[in-house]
Amino acid sequence: MSTQVESVPASWGKAASRWRDVPDSDWSDPLWQLRNLVRTPDQFVGLLGLASDERASLVRLRTQFRFAVSPYYFSLIDPADPDDPIRRMIVPSSLEETSEGHEDPLAEREDRVAPGLVHRYPDRVLFVVTAFCSSYCRFCIRKRNWKTSDAASSRVEIDQAIAYLRSHEEVRDVLISGGDPLTLPLEQLDYILTQVRSVPHVEFVRIGSREPVMLPMRFTDDLLRVLDQHGPLWINTHFNHPREITPEAASACEKIARRGIPLSNQTVLLAGVNDDAAIIKTLFQKLLTIRVRPYYFFQCDRVVGADHLRTNVWKGVEIMESLRGHTTGLAVPTFAIDAPGGGGKIPFMPNYMVSAAPGLVVLRNFEGATFTYAERGSECGEQPAVSVADLASGRSQRIIPAGQPHYTRRKPQP
Ligand code: SF4
Repeated sequence: MSTQVESVPASWGKAASRWRDVPDSDWSDPLWQLRNLVRTPDQFVGLLGLASDERASLVRLRTQFRFAVSPYYFSLIDPADPDDPIRRMIVPSSLEETSEGHEDPLAEREDRVAPGLVHRYPDRVLFVVTAFCSSYCRFCIRKRNWKTSDAASSRVEIDQAIAYLRSHEEVRDVLISGGDPLTLPLEQLDYILTQVRSVPHVEFVRIGSREPVMLPMRFTDDLLRVLDQHGPLWINTHFNHPREITPEAASACEKIARRGIPLSNQTVLLAGVNDDAAIIKTLFQKLLTIRVRPYYFFQCDRVVGADHLRTNVWKGVEIMESLRGHTTGLAVPTFAIDAPGGGGKIPFMPNYMVSAAPGLVVLRNFEGATFTYAERGSECGEQPAVSVADLASGRSQRIIPAGQPHYTRRKPQP
């Protein structure tokens, strides 16, 4: 079955880019992409026509943060639009110079138990195995690794982390992340997966990777074969905008899914990128068409250099409200805030419970209609509903807002 991905508009994509004359055989070669990363202030100036003060700012910022963008991902930018959402996510900006935030907003270093290994939750660990990415997101929460890497990058460090796993039988689930683990040489990736899967109590592995988004040509047969050998394995990827769902990205996800590897997605809520209910709904719906299940939707963390990308928390709640009931539940992830200082993920949802009383709860639905749900053994006969107090006392089952005539056709349930 083919996936439903629209063709790329003429204003962006390879055909409209600086790389239009690059042969397709080079363009689809991940090594060509990595050899041709956009990474210097002068390259950004040449490709986007940045002003001289912006260039001067990038020269200063380069001593603090990493810059790199694959030509493929860069080609998704509309160069004529200074507010282009892909540009905001990946092109360094002078706004990073004045941005507030923390080096390690989730305090991962405080829960580091071995090289690359963060043990925070009871039955699972994060295993950071590289600080390298094929492109560097401006909102990345692990920017600290760009200066001093926490990753387990040598065999000795990997083996130390595996020794910790072997001695902690409560660990069922290992999330391998980075940086981007799927940028590793295949031999090293194979070694890590072999070692992790050899721990008897590790039941499955997850890999966090943005390569389906930023370097989809990375999913060669050789890489897929390595992944295939170490299941059960999940890939958690990271699409933030519908424009990232290109034919190339769709093809990568299809290849992964055909190997029996489930794909889930986390999205970060970003000001000027996806802080809009229609954009998010389109994104989550389109993800399902390329076999990717929206899993988490995160409030942007207070990481250094990304303050200009953060939104008000209520924006996320508003967007969630626009999804639940208005589209398939498969397209509704959990909106969460990762608690500063290492408190973990906290779901933050619209409140659908209006009130509660012994034996029943009063709930509102996605259209604003209010209902009572009677617990087993309690009674709640239908009465004329006039107020929430009537619902809470059990005198009525529902309040129907004007303009919802289909409810009046439905009989209340006993
Ligand atoms: S791909 Fe992930 S780890 Fe790499 S820069 Fe982006 S958010 Fe950070």
